Amino acid sequence: MAIATTNPATGETVKEFDALTEAQLEEKLQRAWDAFQSYRDTTFEQRAGWLRAAADIFDAENERLAELATLEMGKTFAAAKAEVTKCALGCRWYADHAEEDLADVEWPKPKSAPEHARIFTRYQPLGPVLAIMPWNFPYWQVLRFAAPALMAGNVGLLKHASNVPQVALAIEDVLTRAGFPEGAFQTLLVGSSVIEGIIDDDRVRAVTLTGSEPAGREVGARAGQNVKTSVLELGGSDPFIVMPSADVDATVEAAVASRMLNNGQSCINAKRFIVHEQIADEFTQKLVEKMESLTMGDPMDENTDLGPMSQGNGVTDLDEQVQDSIKAGAKLLTGGKPADGPGNYYPATVLADIPKEARAYREELFGPVALVFRAQDADDAIRIANDSDFGLGGSAWTEDEDEKIKFATQVESGMVYINKITESTPEVPFGGAKNSGYGRELASFGPQSFVNAKTIWIQ
Ligand code: NDP
Repeated sequence: MAIATTNPATGETVKEFDALTEAQLEEKLQRAWDAFQSYRDTTFEQRAGWLRAAADIFDAENERLAELATLEMGKTFAAAKAEVTKCALGCRWYADHAEEDLADVEWPKPKSAPEHARIFTRYQPLGPVLAIMPWNFPYWQVLRFAAPALMAGNVGLLKHASNVPQVALAIEDVLTRAGFPEGAFQTLLVGSSVIEGIIDDDRVRAVTLTGSEPAGREVGARAGQNVKTSVLELGGSDPFIVMPSADVDATVEAAVASRMLNNGQSCINAKRFIVHEQIADEFTQKLVEKMESLTMGDPMDENTDLGPMSQGNGVTDLDEQVQDSIKAGAKLLTGGKPADGPGNYYPATVLADIPKEARAYREELFGPVALVFRAQDADDAIRIANDSDFGLGGSAWTEDEDEKIKFATQVESGMVYINKITESTPEVPFGGAKNSGYGRELASFGPQSFVNAKTIWIQ
């Protein structure tokens, strides 16, 4: 895939970039390794200072940075500004909290240890960490890795998605201007074909990938062959369970907000709406009305609710999934056909009565398509929710106290939210189960992901 900026709203390629040559890549890997030798000894206070300066730049240059994201991947300008603001928040959060997250942990002494013995864990950085990141939250996905990893004393190497090179370079630029030492964070403009070689390189000590399941499998396998730490945040097909005690109008609002977040291209969008049959007709009718009321158009226009999808092949793939599902028996309630004209536009779409054989039942639909399922009761809703290879997030909407606990404990996923849309925010751990990946980001897991938790016994 070419490394280029192609405006999803028009289809026009506005800037192309050369991939790094072998010699340039080698130079950057060596620079990362050299930088780590001294960066590892910088203090928490120094690192926090640089991160706070980065936060200030994200805030001061919010609109300029947000415009780049909208240009390269099509999210609405409002969403892009909110994403850049979140990066500032994330930088400040880890500037304030990482030292505490990485403080020594004292352990109780075994009987054999003398009275004066001290036994504790000290978290030490691993070295250069390769981050392979997706285009959908092109700033936040990177910063939610980079802020805690840099605070832990690691250095970062970013292989960003090939369609967001300007954002990738802007992140390196922000962190460099914030004062991080040369080589502490570098963007590698490379295609995915050279990733295996980078993971094999002794100077690279760990890898994290946020992206699709196939890419995760390859990267995780390679990291395993090299006995290197890896964190994988992969796709999802999150359930959104609605029970009769829920307020239908409010739940429909939340359903559409969650499904359409980021033009329908978020790993934690609610994708499968599993509705108790008592309220299924009302919920579905209101869901369709709300989806049809959204304004699709130019992502820079403040009246736009739904911008273009990030890539043309995303539209083609999504449409194939929808058409194949209809052929398999699913019922199309609205949308279901790419928009005419330039740009990667796909309208808000709702499918219902989806049979098990349909692709929409098993696969992740990474675009503005809501899938409606009917459940007979809470157990049936959990059965449908768990009949998926994915297990990233999920939510359940009910006023019944027993049901809240039941859904929270029995839905098989890395995150369950009750009466709340799933979200990614620095204070709260984030990550998946099943084929949605392993490892956790954010909260204290972020700084602790790429460290040697060294046991130290001194007597
Ligand atoms: P991809 O997996 O295709 O791309 C993500 C990143 O991985 C890009 O940098 C890409 O580079 C790189 N990549 C692709 N194939 C390989 C490979 N074989 N080896 C190494 N690197 C590779 O994902 P999509 O662009 O399709 O992004 C959407 C997917 O990401 C969805 O499934 C979504 O659910 C998931 N996702 C998960 C999130 C989470 O937190 N769990 C968050 C956001 C998205 P290049 O662009 O050069 O191909």
